[in-house]
Amino acid sequence: MRLVTVQTEQGPRACGEFEGQYVDLNSADPVLPSTVKGLLTLGAEGLRRAAGALVAGERTYDPARATLLAPVPDPAKIVCLGLNYRDHAAESGMAVPTEPILFSKYATTLIGHGAPIVLPPQSTEVDYEAELVVVIGVGGRDIPRDRAMGHVAGYAVGHDVSARDWQLNKPGKQWMAGKTFDTFAPVGPCLVTADEVLDPQALGIRLRLNGRTMQDSNTNQLVFPVDETVSYLSGIFTLEPGDLIFTGTPPGVGMARKPPVWLQPGDIVEVEIDGLGTLRNPVIRR
Ligand code: MN
Repeated sequence: MRLVTVQTEQGPRACGEFEGQYVDLNSADPVLPSTVKGLLTLGAEGLRRAAGALVAGERTYDPARATLLAPVPDPAKIVCLGLNYRDHAAESGMAVPTEPILFSKYATTLIGHGAPIVLPPQSTEVDYEAELVVVIGVGGRDIPRDRAMGHVAGYAVGHDVSARDWQLNKPGKQWMAGKTFDTFAPVGPCLVTADEVLDPQALGIRLRLNGRTMQDSNTNQLVFPVDETVSYLSGIFTLEPGDLIFTGTPPGVGMARKPPVWLQPGDIVEVEIDGLGTLRNPVIRR
């Protein structure tokens, strides 16, 4: 199943894709919540019920005209891994990590497919990063690695937009600030449930800037795979339904190029992951 959040006059609405339309789940079955996070709190039973409701849904939105938010626009946590592809660590001049390198974003960074990435006036070095995003379903604490995949509801395409001048050149290296300007976390277009993803460590992942391929790799290059990451994070904090985990980016980012490449107003960035779709966002200046 493919879940999206559509912005409507009634606010954000959880929908599922069915026969080329977005079907409003709550209107199809009033037991189902109106948000994707609410749906995920119902666990596997909620997803089964949603899949059944798609068939009967009458309130639909046309994907060609709908305004999409991030599939989960209101997560309690957005956790990100740095340097989680071996080759990207090398191009960044840093060692391959022996433990996950963690930082976070806020819900205010999230935008959906089609929405603009807004370049802030405080940065001249805004970079792109294609990423696989893991969406937590059933929450938990101290989840053993061999049970971690049971806590994953699904996956989405993500983009970890990064202001390198803040991340790397400010006193103390301000990773948090460089990663958290508004609109710096496009996610979407949809959440693909885990049953449709045979192996999250075997997905081609690419990023195109104005049609030119800048990143082209595979999630089989992840240093810390999904199950190990979920288990590790759950030892630090309680994972909750709808939490997002950005799993790091492959090589080819703009800062590693000679000369470096920074996002410019008018650019179009597309991130594509096999089986999950293509996330496309224009770039504007505030
Ligand atoms: Mn990243």
